[in-house]
Amino acid sequence: MACAVNGCKNLKRFKPKGVTFYRFPTGSLLNEWLRVLDKGSKWQWTNKLICSEHFSQNDIIKTGVKTIYL
Ligand SMILES: [Zn+2]
Repeated sequence: MACAVNGCKNLKRFKPKGVTFYRFPTGSLLNEWLRVLDKGSKWQWTNKLICSEHFSQNDIIKTGVKTIYL
């Protein structure tokens, strides 16, 4: 499975060093992710992942709330 971010080449099956893959969240955070990724609401996000290269470490570790930075 590839990272859903356009232009990102990270693949989960290659287990890139130091890269974690995240599922899409539910609720208002999902809408935020779709907006940042420029995807419409009909885009199939359920089987997609985004890798940790697009998040701030602080967001992941301290708050558990993941915000995407492209
Ligand atoms: Zn990625």
